[in-house]
Amino acid sequence: MWKGGKVERSPKRIAVVGASLAGLRAAETLSQRVPNTEVVVIGAEPHRPYDRPPLSKKLLSGEWEPERIQLRPASSFDELDVEWRFGVAATRLEPAASGTGGRLHLSDGSCLEAEGIVIATGASPRRLAGQSQFGHVHVLRTLDDAMAIRAAIGAGGQSVVVIGAGFIGLEVAATAKQLNNQVTVLEGAIAPLIRGLGEEMGTAIADIHRAHGIDVRCGVQVESLTETGVQLSEEHLDADLIIVGIGVVPATQWLDDSGLELRDGIVCDETLQAAPGIYAAGDVARWPNPLFGEEMRVEHWTNAAEQGALAANNLIDLAAGKTPVPYGPVPFFWSDQFDQRIQFLGRSSPDDEVIVAAGSVAEGKFLALYGRNGKLHGAFGLNAPRWVMPMRKQLLSRVSFNDALAFVASLP
Ligand SMILES: Cc1cc2nc3c(=O)[nH]c(=O)nc-3n(C[C@H](O)[C@H](O)[C@H](O)COP(=O)(O)OP(=O)(O)OC[C@H]3O[C@@H](n4cnc5c(N)ncnc54)[C@H](O)[C@@H]3O)c2cc1C
Repeated sequence: MWKGGKVERSPKRIAVVGASLAGLRAAETLSQRVPNTEVVVIGAEPHRPYDRPPLSKKLLSGEWEPERIQLRPASSFDELDVEWRFGVAATRLEPAASGTGGRLHLSDGSCLEAEGIVIATGASPRRLAGQSQFGHVHVLRTLDDAMAIRAAIGAGGQSVVVIGAGFIGLEVAATAKQLNNQVTVLEGAIAPLIRGLGEEMGTAIADIHRAHGIDVRCGVQVESLTETGVQLSEEHLDADLIIVGIGVVPATQWLDDSGLELRDGIVCDETLQAAPGIYAAGDVARWPNPLFGEEMRVEHWTNAAEQGALAANNLIDLAAGKTPVPYGPVPFFWSDQFDQRIQFLGRSSPDDEVIVAAGSVAEGKFLALYGRNGKLHGAFGLNAPRWVMPMRKQLLSRVSFNDALAFVASLP
């Protein structure tokens, strides 16, 4: 996380907006590298930074309590020389007309001037029309959301409908099933996870859920939510509890009149700079990944952690007259559903060539490679970490698809 040493010339004050994973990593980096700079973190949620992946897994199942998902223990958190303002949102940003950084307007009516700003406001769940009027319809993004779903599920025995078979929807479905509920998943596309994995692999994941007794229905359109469930085009599905998992939108609304370029995220350069002295990190940042020659916005844990630290390092280095570093990673994510471990390295698109290079879908353990324009583009593993992780180096070297297949054939 910490790159480079303490710097001589540093801004007087740096503000971090968003107090979650990317914001925490930025704040930690700043407090270590520029001890004479005042670091202020603005966080809309009332909570200290916590980890989101368990929200749909062990926290939702009741196996873990909220204390277990804190990103840092209270003692090391209190040691950071950082001012935390929880329960306060940034409502507007005026970038500095000359110089760097800008002025933040906050929801408590105050303003904050900062020479450097790291924006790490993440993303918010998309909602269906009218869903806020129904108490039994939930989304899952925050600790409070997860605790509300957990309370609603209670001791199980309920009919739960999950709308949207993305990663979060499928994880919630798996957890709800493990808690002895009757679970139906509704997906508009012909298979789950098409955008992330393509049809064949998405179908393999759907089959795992079906084998555990979940009713996974693809190619269905939800017409409306009702007091008692979900209206589909040809039937009404009764549900005690509905979870809407239809993706997220980057949390940029508060930046609408900031002059920053916003296009499904905050548009940054290769070093994550959006404007002089203003950087973005995590789920909210869109940047050109030089390794893949592709602009991307990534909604996964590893990316948020790495970008938070890198944005802070680059902000400090540029202010000190040093050259900032481009961010060119191999994107990575994991997902746990039932006892299955899903891992993906790189990128995929629905028209990629997909070949199962090791293991098989039938045995429930395999590595699939994704190729585009003759090059290896992604690697997807089900219960196969020993096959997936060596592919990171192959993706970093941007090897040809054929060389990647030959490499996998040589793996033990
Ligand atoms: C249920 C769930 C399960 C997940 N599971 C996995 C997984 O298994 N594997 C994986 O790789 N990834 C997973 N992820 C994704 C991962 O958690 C995210 O990529 C990561 O949390 C992004 O971190 P972030 O700091 O960029 O944004 P966030 O974690 O979204 O945090 C942004 C913070 O900024 C705050 N904020 C927003 N607007 C403002 C404002 N105007 N002013 C001040 N504060 C503001 C928000 O309240 C929030 O606290 C999961 C996510 C969820 C929700």
